[in-house]
Amino acid sequence: MQGLREKRAPAWPRQTVVTALALLALVFLLPLFFLEEEPSLRPSEPEPTATLPLAVAPTPSLQPVEGWDEGYGLRFLKSDGTVETMTMADYLWGVVAAEMPASFRIEALKAQAVCARTYSVYQKLGGTEKHPQADVCGDYTCCQAYLTREQAAESWGEEAARYADKVAQAVTDTDGLLCLYGGEPIDAVFFSSTEGRTADAAEVWGATVPYLVPVDSPEGEEVPGWRTVCTYAADEVKERIGKVWPQADLSGAAETWFGTPELDSAGAVARMTVGGVSATGAQIRSAFGLRSARFSVEPGEGSVTFRVTGYGHGVGMSQYGANALAGEGKDFQAILEWYYTGVTVSGWSG
Ligand SMILES: [Zn+2]
Repeated sequence: MQGLREKRAPAWPRQTVVTALALLALVFLLPLFFLEEEPSLRPSEPEPTATLPLAVAPTPSLQPVEGWDEGYGLRFLKSDGTVETMTMADYLWGVVAAEMPASFRIEALKAQAVCARTYSVYQKLGGTEKHPQADVCGDYTCCQAYLTREQAAESWGEEAARYADKVAQAVTDTDGLLCLYGGEPIDAVFFSSTEGRTADAAEVWGATVPYLVPVDSPEGEEVPGWRTVCTYAADEVKERIGKVWPQADLSGAAETWFGTPELDSAGAVARMTVGGVSATGAQIRSAFGLRSARFSVEPGEGSVTFRVTGYGHGVGMSQYGANALAGEGKDFQAILEWYYTGVTVSGWSG
């Protein structure tokens, strides 16, 4: 310190003063550089452990296959029963607008666009007995939901212009990109939300699909309608059971109607007896209009209450989970590789 003070004496040559000033400036500015650097110097959050198929090494972001969507035609079954041929580009805009809240993060919307594109190609390749005259329809219980530009604008209100652009960006930024397994487009099923884990296609639909196996899903209480309660009068319960399981024995009190649930590996109801008859969680979900198969049954005085978490069949990509992952900084490719085990996201020339 003594030496420095001496060097600041005014008698020193101009060059030395300039050098000293520069050094001083460096001393003051250096900490600023370190401050800016600090976030990246912090240890990053631990990667989720266990069986998640998350790429650890950063992968270069995927480039769209420009013009692919415009060149791919789909026969679309309209609600009035007529069939309209449209490009993948036009069809996808309507599907992404209908299937995912446009307020979601852009990487989640891009993941949705790739899912919807892949699902549509898969449908076109395999055909469907429900409507052999068309590749896809706009009924979400059959294919995927679809909104026209006018319908979307109406539902978006003041945000219509911004959301329309956002959806268009999700489609064009992923132009021509599909989820492939063994080089072929996958059955890219998706759903709204689940608690903790996604479901195994084998347990929900009875057929093993290597890329539709349970993985962790991060969504929770932030999901609108996360927990729902359905209460039915005992007579209504009897009527609904009678329609689906006519052989069910409901002669006892309501407490005896439903057996102890057998849970699947994702925590949803796999099987449960109804009036002594074995039923799947999906069948009970359908019979009582429950939002998911992740439910509990509470028989009460003259009524039965179902407590349900999440929404949808639970297989494949969780939409709210995709939005949560996007919030953690994951891009659409990482989100898709997370939910569809062992898939590659890339262009496809089949
Ligand atoms: Zn359909």
